[in-house]
Amino acid sequence: ANCNGNGNGNGKFSNANRNGKTNSSPWRQKIAQQRKSLPIASVEKRLIEEVRKNDILIIVGETGSGKTTQIPQFLFNAGFCNNGKVVGITQPRRVAAVTVAKRVADECGVELGQKVGYSVRFDDSTSNSTRIKYMTDGLLLREALLDPYLSKYSVIIVDEAHERTVHTDVLMGLLKNVQLARSESINDGQNLNNGNKNANGFMLLDKDNGQNSSFDRKERREKSSPLKLIIMSASLDARTFSEYFGGAKAVHIQGRQFPVDIFYTRYPETDYVDAALITIFQVHLEETHGDILVFLTGQEEIESVERLIKERLTKLPQGSQNLQVVPIYAALPPEQQMRAFAPAPSGFRKVILATNIAETSITIPGIKYVIDPGLVKARSYDPGKGMESLIVVPTSKSQALQRSGRAGREGPGKCFRLYPENEFEKLEDSTMPEIKRCNLSNVILQLKALGVDDILGFDFIEKPSRTAIIKSLEQLFLLGALTDECQLSDPVGRQMARLPLDPDYAKALILASQFNCLEEMLITVAMLSVESIFYTPRDKYEEARTATKCFASPEGDHITLINVYRAATDFLEKRTVEMNKAKSEKVLRKWCNENFINSRSLRHARDIHRQIQGHVQQMGLKLASCGDDMLQFRRCLVASFFLNAAMKQADGTYRAYASGQVVQIHPSSVLFRKKPDCIIFNELIQTNNKYVRNLTRVDSLWLTELAPQFYAMQN
Ligand code: ADP
Ligand code: MG
Repeated sequence: ANCNGNGNGNGKFSNANRNGKTNSSPWRQKIAQQRKSLPIASVEKRLIEEVRKNDILIIVGETGSGKTTQIPQFLFNAGFCNNGKVVGITQPRRVAAVTVAKRVADECGVELGQKVGYSVRFDDSTSNSTRIKYMTDGLLLREALLDPYLSKYSVIIVDEAHERTVHTDVLMGLLKNVQLARSESINDGQNLNNGNKNANGFMLLDKDNGQNSSFDRKERREKSSPLKLIIMSASLDARTFSEYFGGAKAVHIQGRQFPVDIFYTRYPETDYVDAALITIFQVHLEETHGDILVFLTGQEEIESVERLIKERLTKLPQGSQNLQVVPIYAALPPEQQMRAFAPAPSGFRKVILATNIAETSITIPGIKYVIDPGLVKARSYDPGKGMESLIVVPTSKSQALQRSGRAGREGPGKCFRLYPENEFEKLEDSTMPEIKRCNLSNVILQLKALGVDDILGFDFIEKPSRTAIIKSLEQLFLLGALTDECQLSDPVGRQMARLPLDPDYAKALILASQFNCLEEMLITVAMLSVESIFYTPRDKYEEARTATKCFASPEGDHITLINVYRAATDFLEKRTVEMNKAKSEKVLRKWCNENFINSRSLRHARDIHRQIQGHVQQMGLKLASCGDDMLQFRRCLVASFFLNAAMKQADGTYRAYASGQVVQIHPSSVLFRKKPDCIIFNELIQTNNKYVRNLTRVDSLWLTELAPQFYAMQN
């Protein structure tokens, strides 16, 4: 009940905060005091001085010291947002962008989306008055497509640079160029003015506002002021960044850390989810007060642990049920993400189930116990095999240290590592940068669209392998995004780059308008962009199977997903004669529960659908439906995802054409038992087996017919 979702952590004062008027409310005083006590507060002046002195500054500071929330406010107060300029802060994770923006809006006493806002893929909360803008690194890359000089920004902060996401890496290379280009354009401008004292700009300004010319000169200088870059990192090793930026200055911010006792298990755990559950209850029942943070690998796992905790709680005696469970992961709607920050009801202990976003990106107050199974879901790509997979792997040592550190921010804490101590020694020191282990097609398409022709020669902070680059170029070529000369094709490549989707999804939409099934493909892409539409509680397995049977299509999972989406939409339309948003959401949630559909995921998919639909309409693609003629749609799947085709083998396993991998159909697929001869799939995951998920039955002859650029060569 205390989770009002407006992000200030205390419902009672939410209105005061919204209006930003009652500056003396206890809640505001508390926030002001929290801000003052952060390690970073005492170095505000010196930090600003350093920013003024250095065009590129590297700031290294322990997690929780206040970098992300405070530095943008310092810059704002120091005048870096004058003349309508914006301070932009990039985050590798959308959850961080969203929750931090809310926090900072609260700290400033303003409504989110005004002075402080965020922008992430499929969710924009900014306006013309936004001066402090949090966003994902991927989003800023996209902005550069529209505004190559990123001219509205006076400062860009690349936060969490130690995460080394592929977008962060590419962004740093790009920002180097932008900074150079902007300082050159200023110098050009000054030369021009020196040569011709009565340059047009000055005269016009004189006439427009009648100000004296020294003012104009000042204003002009500020408008074209150089771009300041700040690279922030939680890892103490600033050298890599400093070297990359030509020996840029690095400053350290001292953190504050209490001792954390580390506990290991005696033996390796066979079931880490179960081990985590047992540990959660041990802490809850035996340890003194303080909240628990558990690191899990993804939405599905978090949701299942959430259910299991709630089940077990009901079996505890009355007095011990005071445990509040709050999940936090990327796909959670923003207001629910904020629940993790709200204090538990009095007398309750909070247990936060988080993905590794809680490792460094966000700091949740009140954590005293950390439970770390030592695992993380990581993207990994094998360019040789052309296979991308999302697999659960052990964390690195530095991740394990960051995680345990979360227990010691406000007092001594405890960290339970769910693996034996000797395993820790075997961990890698740090995680390999993503750019070395992901499919590069997406960023290469972006770079091409930004006019970077020579991808192999791009100034990457760490170069991806030549093979990886060439494989991705090849894939883009096969998708028709690049010409024979390796140039961005027009219109297909350009259109693909404009869509905020992976290249094959973007291509699917473009093709679908030709196959007259864009409506169906839009739904498909939206549904494939979220995790786990179906939810199957273990104890209601049969019930769930029966309930979802009515959506199942004999053709496969794609059409099944379309059926779910449409059933939900039909259901809503029948009753939304005069329903408001909140009401219709409630109604939809009920429908989802009855049908064993994950309502959070469905809601997210509907959001995404709306946004991509906006994009394709702007692009002028023909929005048509193939009606009942799903043959068209399936053929379109082949034309789009031909790189993901697999043939059944004698033993019932499948061989993927492009990669030669032997895979199995995932048990969650509607085709699990049917096993058609030839399939198109969207996801290959490797757990104990290699599984394909989200698949549709197709005719193998279509491959050569619809994707001759690939299959004619193969035979
Ligand atoms: P850093 O970026 O150095 O890791 P942050 O600026 O993210 O540090 O966090 C600074 C402080 O702000 C932390 O003490 C954290 O607990 C607090 N904080 C951040 N977000 C919220 C929030 N949404 N609600 C309450 N406190 C928050
Ligand atoms: Mg931070």
